[in-house]
Amino acid sequence: AEAAGGGDKEAVRAYFNSTGFERWRKIYGSATEGVNRVQLDIREGHAQTVAATLSMLRDSPLQLAGATVCDAGCGTGSLAIPLAAEGADVLASDISAAMVSEAQRQAQLALASQPAGSPFRMPRFEVRDLESLQGRYDVVVCLDVLIHYPREEARAMIKHLASLAEKRLLISFAPRTLYFDFLKRVGELFPGPSKATRAYLHAERDIEDALREAGWRVANRGFISTQFYFAKLFEAVPAGSSS
Ligand code: SAM
Repeated sequence: AEAAGGGDKEAVRAYFNSTGFERWRKIYGSATEGVNRVQLDIREGHAQTVAATLSMLRDSPLQLAGATVCDAGCGTGSLAIPLAAEGADVLASDISAAMVSEAQRQAQLALASQPAGSPFRMPRFEVRDLESLQGRYDVVVCLDVLIHYPREEARAMIKHLASLAEKRLLISFAPRTLYFDFLKRVGELFPGPSKATRAYLHAERDIEDALREAGWRVANRGFISTQFYFAKLFEAVPAGSSS
């Protein structure tokens, strides 16, 4: 497989600036017109992943208001915006300029509808790929992005994300279990998936190993599944920390 940093990445960027943008904006939006049953199901599953991520963060000893959060591959802002509404200091970035400007638009709408006294802090939005993220953040979150990364690249990316995080690292990914392996194989019997829409599923074990090698351990895990959406959600902490 080509590296995510090579040909795949350009294909993924182009996809999320064009047909992928239209498709995912619809899925992540709230309108129901023109949204099919499968898309609605994926919307529901993804919303559960966002909700589970928020509740893990709220349950952590971390004070979300004022915490620095890096939302890596933010899409249309499904997570960045609710975090901003809790007063978190969010950097929301994505490889797709179309996604980032939609996220920005959504954040403006959210800001306009905040109740008086809301701690809402406008996120900083940047068009950039995961590889070029720098700095240190209390929390790094990366939801449903590793599906675009082949196995080795995903492991390397987890280490990179861990190097940016101080307290918490939350990652969701499509699990590579026998059943999903099977579905994927069936999918591959049909006309060759394009580079941009090729889906890489990951073994939990691989993700945990990469975290361990980076000096992190999984403190909490979640599994979200609807009919057409499946995700494992890991909340990791530095291996030495107690909470
Ligand atoms: N994290 C968001 C969420 O859960 O709502 C969006 C998930 S969407 C399925 C995947 C996102 O990853 C897209 O917005 C895409 O542009 C972005 N993406 C893919 N490869 C990327 C890369 N190498 N660097 C940054 N973003 C990337």
